[in-house]
Amino acid sequence: MNKKIFIIGAGLSGLAAAITLEKAGFSPVIFESTSKAGGRIKTDIFEGYQLDHGFQVLLDAYPKALEYFDYKELELQKILPGAILFYKGRSVAIGDPSRHPGFLFTTILSGVAGVKDVYRLLVLYRDLQKMTDEEIFSSEEMSTLNFLKKRKFSNGLIAKFFKPFFSGIFLEPDLKTSCRMFQFVFKMFARGSAVIPKAGMGALAEQLVKKLEKTEIHYNSRVERVSDGEVWLQSGEKYKADAIVVAAEPGILSASAEPSELKWNSCETLYFEVDRRTIKKPIIGLVRDPNAIINNIFYHTSISCAHKGEKELLSVTIVKDHNLTKEDLITQVIEELKVYCKIDKVDFLKHYQIKRALPSLESLKAQWPGNIGKAGKSIFLAGDHLLYASSNAALISGEGAAKAVIEKLR
Ligand SMILES: Cc1cc2nc3c(=O)[nH]c(=O)nc-3n(C[C@H](O)[C@H](O)[C@H](O)COP(=O)(O)OP(=O)(O)OC[C@H]3O[C@@H](n4cnc5c(N)ncnc54)[C@H](O)[C@@H]3O)c2cc1C
Repeated sequence: MNKKIFIIGAGLSGLAAAITLEKAGFSPVIFESTSKAGGRIKTDIFEGYQLDHGFQVLLDAYPKALEYFDYKELELQKILPGAILFYKGRSVAIGDPSRHPGFLFTTILSGVAGVKDVYRLLVLYRDLQKMTDEEIFSSEEMSTLNFLKKRKFSNGLIAKFFKPFFSGIFLEPDLKTSCRMFQFVFKMFARGSAVIPKAGMGALAEQLVKKLEKTEIHYNSRVERVSDGEVWLQSGEKYKADAIVVAAEPGILSASAEPSELKWNSCETLYFEVDRRTIKKPIIGLVRDPNAIINNIFYHTSISCAHKGEKELLSVTIVKDHNLTKEDLITQVIEELKVYCKIDKVDFLKHYQIKRALPSLESLKAQWPGNIGKAGKSIFLAGDHLLYASSNAALISGEGAAKAVIEKLR
């Protein structure tokens, strides 16, 4: 129990590793390079509003999230299972009528999904409910776009709904992401809801930190390098380790370690203060015009927030590459909000550019891959990049790495 275990990174995977190690009686030490836990899931309070680092949600059906989080304490706020589609200044609401009857007529009348599409959606829904996550993550690999075509969804439904909706989830505009991810996310959407904690997404990490009783977290402590049995901090300190969990990008490992350079999907989120909401209900807005730079919008004050600010809070997410300066981008977004969404009089608050938002992976896995995860005799890797880009995967990987450490030390 006195073994020296170091965890690099206090994102969800590092925190899940610490919780698992504590349960087995160990007292790990976390080195985190920033001043706060959460990694890619953080919330700032700015001019009274809570701003998540990029628009993101938790799917409350995630199996690992159900084990790790106390949903009641988080006061999860549900987002409606549908979307408002904006096109040429017009808008239409579509959604899952089985979960929200109000969507029945609007979806049928929208012209976005034909009868055959609805039938194919039901068949996909049924097929995925029967599949385990392991089966989904070992199914044939292809891009999501090819998968949707193979399932014979109409070009209209793909262009008008699937593309903007899943671009906002995968953070890439072409649906190149593996169809394994699409199937997993589709299954999770069908089983539960997209939710945001009342205090913002950062509350997820804060809740995990609160669970830790025997773990020391050192913030502002960047690890420069690890090798078997040793951890070097940027400050020059060096520590002997019985085991190391690298729950950060694996670049800090010595040259021989796996996996190699990661590629990332990026996004930008701009927050605006507005006088009134043009969408009253908590539902995502999608701009489906191929020339638009905006992908999706959401009024965060359409759900209960712990920090509300004085007016309404709107976020705009961009997933396309562009060469605009920040000022030009803000100007273009304000113009597009007016033209496509009929939203005017917005006051810019803050811009988040997230270059490393989601790892772009070629082959996805359901379970922590012991053989790849172990980078040296005493080094174990964790992080969503080992499995698939999601908070559920981050938790699975952290727990898996910690269990491997426990097995090794015993
Ligand atoms: C904009 C955006 C939208 C997203 N949307 C969703 C969504 O809707 N649903 C979903 O499930 N997932 C979503 N995700 C993904 C989810 O946030 C991640 O899968 C998850 O947070 C990854 O956790 P992690 O612990 O693997 O990595 P990270 O959160 O990246 O944690 C790594 C930690 O290591 C620290 N670190 C790095 N280098 C060092 C070093 N040298 N020394 C010490 N510490 C170091 C970092 O500061 C960080 O705290 C989204 C992510 C983003 C950014």
